[in-house]
Formats: sequence, structure tokens, C-alpha cells
Amino acid sequence: MNVKLSTQQGDRAAGVLLATAAGDALGAGYEFTHPDAGAAIEMIGGGPFDWAPGEWTDDTSMALAIAEVAATGADIGRGEGLDAVAAQFVRWFDSDPADIGNQTRAVLSRRPAGGAAMQARARALTGRKGGNGSLMRTAPVALAYLGDEAGCLDAAAQIASLTHDDPQATQACQLWSHAIRHAVLHGTFDGVRDYLDIAPADVAAYWGPLLDQAEQGTPEDFANNGWVVHALQTAWWAITSTDSSDDRHLRRALVAAVRAGGDTDTTAAIAGGLLGARWGASAVPAGWRRILHGWPGYTAPDLERLALETVGGGCDDSDGATDLLAQS
Ligand SMILES: [Mg+2]
Repeated sequence: MNVKLSTQQGDRAAGVLLATAAGDALGAGYEFTHPDAGAAIEMIGGGPFDWAPGEWTDDTSMALAIAEVAATGADIGRGEGLDAVAAQFVRWFDSDPADIGNQTRAVLSRRPAGGAAMQARARALTGRKGGNGSLMRTAPVALAYLGDEAGCLDAAAQIASLTHDDPQATQACQLWSHAIRHAVLHGTFDGVRDYLDIAPADVAAYWGPLLDQAEQGTPEDFANNGWVVHALQTAWWAITSTDSSDDRHLRRALVAAVRAGGDTDTTAAIAGGLLGARWGASAVPAGWRRILHGWPGYTAPDLERLALETVGGGCDDSDGATDLLAQS
């Protein structure tokens, strides 16, 4: 899908991976802790895996694995494109990452060749399968399908199910990808609720009250944020409970997500994908941007470049471009 973006839409698209990484690296030093209400939250690294300051973790790395394939112009939601995403996941796994979710490890350690084999391996896992590990990496799906609402939903589900065979994980990835896509195009957070209008009735009936709870509750109400549902609620709480009157909202909400505690790198990475889509790369604090880095040897400019290549799909945009300016 070839697309043309306005300057503002381009900034917002460039912000998706950058703010995902910023949230991830901000939360990395606080993973599995519950910072005091008054504690300063800084991009200090450390934490259970002794991250360097500014270093992102598996959340961003897996998102980049998806984006790298989308940037070639492949259709990441099916066929050879989905196979290529699966191969990139294995490539990342073979880099011996410090941090990897239990479900993701159980799938990737078998090195399934191709999308169908990886999905079959995920289906074969037993026990609880609703971890937050698919939601944390779904942001680039929105970029790849900016001009295709239905394609975005389909691809979000297919890529989620590579490692997470769980209906709520699938729905969460669809909701968040839809919201990120909407935010890049329109510059609002309205896509979160808009998903309820396009989802099946039972799915909308499930998620509507959860969004209400996130907007009205406190992190204690959704404290099990290693679970995909509570992870999404924590991210949405952080976004909706902080001052959104200007683009410093991005920083305020990421700090709030970390302060909520628990799986802090992941809840902040999830929030970051949507915050970056709403406020743009220009809203990411310069002090964060300077030190961001991680697999596969990237820094902040690489994230912005890759995000825009993901939108372009690696295609020449001179012919048959879908003009999205009218939607801005
Ligand atoms: Mg992580």
C-alpha cells in the first residue's frame, strides 16, 4: 500500500517506534518494581537485566523485527510476509536476548520455520496463554496498514497468533493497532473507542467496560499487567489520567505507566506506541532520544527512518499512491 502523508502525519508515523522504544527504555530499570508515588522516573537503565541507560528491551526489538519486514514492501499479514516475520523473530531469538517472555521463549526455542508452523507451535502450548508479549510489539502493524483498516486488523491478529494463541491477546492487538493507525492519521486517541464500533458485538461488550475501568480506576484495579488485558488497561490509564493539553503529555503518560509498577517496560512501550502516534517524534524528549539504543544496533534516527519505510512499504510512492491527506 503506497501512501502519502502530510508533514504532521509523517512526524506522527515517525514517532510510533521512537516512543515505543522510549517507554520501553524508561521502564526497563523499574521492571517488577512499584516505584513510590513521589519517586523520580528517569531513563537510568539497570533493573533485573542490568540494562544500559537508554537501552530498549525485547518489546521494541520484536517490534523492529516486524517493521524490518514491512519496510521491504512485504504483506506482513499473510503468506511469505508472515513467514518473513517469523524468521525475523527467530533471528532475534538467536541473538540470545537478555529478556524474553515465557510464551515467546516456548515458541521461538523450537525455531518454527514459517508463520503457519509458528502459529501451530503457539496453539500447542498449554496453560495460560494471555501474556502481554504480542500487544507490546503490535505498533508497526498500524504503520504497515495505514491505508487499510481491515488489513490492519487481520495482520494484527495473524502476527499476534505467531506466539500468543489467546482471543483477548488477539483483540487487544487489533484494538491497539487500530488506535495507533487512527492516531497517525487523525492526531487523536479516538481510535481506542472507535474500535468498539467496528468489532464484533461480543468483543465490544467485553472491552467497553475494561476501557471504562481504565479511565476511572487506579493501577491497583489492573495490577496483573503481565496479562494482556491489564497491560492494555494500564497503558490506557496512563494516557487518560495524565494532562493531555500539550505534547509533554507523551512524557507525563510514560512516567505514569512506569510508576504504575509491574511489567513497567512493557506497559510503557505499549503506551508509547499510541502516544508517539498521537504526538509525533518531535514530542520525544531530546535527552531520551540521544541515549536510546538496542537490537539490532540501532539508535533513535534508525527508528524514525524505519517507521517511515514501514509506511512506505519500501515502494516507490509515485504511482497509485493512496492520498491520506484528506483524512488528517
Ligand atoms: Mg521487555
